[in-house]
Amino acid sequence: MRHRIDPDSLTALPNGSGVYIFKGQGTLPLYIGKSVNIRSRVLSHLRAPDEANMIAQTRRIDFIETAGELGALLLEARMIKEQSPLFNHRLRRLRRLSSIRLCQTDKGTTPEIVDSKTVNLGATPKLFGLFSSNHAAKQKLNELAQLHGLCKVVLGLEQTSTRGCFGLQIKTCLGACVGQEARHVHDERLSAALIDLQVEVWPYRGPVELIEENDGWVQRHRVNNWCHLETWCSKTGQASQITTFNPQDFDRDSYQILVKPIMLRTVKVQAC
Ligand SMILES: [Zn+2]
Repeated sequence: MRHRIDPDSLTALPNGSGVYIFKGQGTLPLYIGKSVNIRSRVLSHLRAPDEANMIAQTRRIDFIETAGELGALLLEARMIKEQSPLFNHRLRRLRRLSSIRLCQTDKGTTPEIVDSKTVNLGATPKLFGLFSSNHAAKQKLNELAQLHGLCKVVLGLEQTSTRGCFGLQIKTCLGACVGQEARHVHDERLSAALIDLQVEVWPYRGPVELIEENDGWVQRHRVNNWCHLETWCSKTGQASQITTFNPQDFDRDSYQILVKPIMLRTVKVQAC
């Protein structure tokens, strides 16, 4: 493919992990991406037919190396949110996140829609799913009710009626609303339906450092409550501060980046 990208900027691309930035004629980035191998990932962009439009506008490609993959993921997420490149459609910052909380009442287990304005999402147990709105959370409950034969009256999605829910008439509800199905059986099925969406509670008492090392180069990512606070780098001896900690800043992308390495302990963690 023919392109008009500064050849020196291509030659300079390293084989290590980090973030790369496609730039056009202006100063604003066209696209920001991350890889464990910056060079090979950028070259595969240049060969991708469906990215021809972006490549045609690109004049140079910059990069920022990181000591490991986690650092690349965190940096990419942050830069995309700060700079909103034209060709990145993912990783939009969501002001408010909603979730489904399972509460115990005297009747049984009841789902409640909560959001990040009122609930500290990383520190509250029994939360399921991180949604962009209350409406999206409700939609998920409706979907699960349909899929698993749950009762929409019991789930609080429909008004109570003596004849049971609408689902009972069309045989999509197994009858928890009229006592055909025991409430505890229904509630166990509800919990099982939600289990894959469970939001992990931050497993430490406060902030920790996630340590990545590459050939003597160390980066320490300070994280609290699934929020990335800053990264200290041994090359510069300095920390780049990301944010002051605020539970309302709970960020779905950071959570998704951090949850596996922390829960599966595939990253070196140090209390701080
Ligand atoms: Zn029902």
